[in-house]
Amino acid sequence: MGLQYKSGFCKKCDANRKVERPTVNHILHLILTIVTVGLWSIVWIGSVIRFGGWRCSTCGSTKVSKIS
Ligand SMILES: [Zn+2]
Repeated sequence: MGLQYKSGFCKKCDANRKVERPTVNHILHLILTIVTVGLWSIVWIGSVIRFGGWRCSTCGSTKVSKIS
């Protein structure tokens, strides 16, 4: 899984920081869902919810805003 970077404002650092989030490989999940007759979709949805948020690359806080 790769990482996506953008700039945003971290409330914990109280400064503009580089923010990151892991990218979800949807093609791989789609193939696995087909192979497992839909069972893998549970893992897929779970990974989207768990890894969907942006976090500060300096302190790791998820309290980031103004992502651009
Ligand atoms: Zn921070």
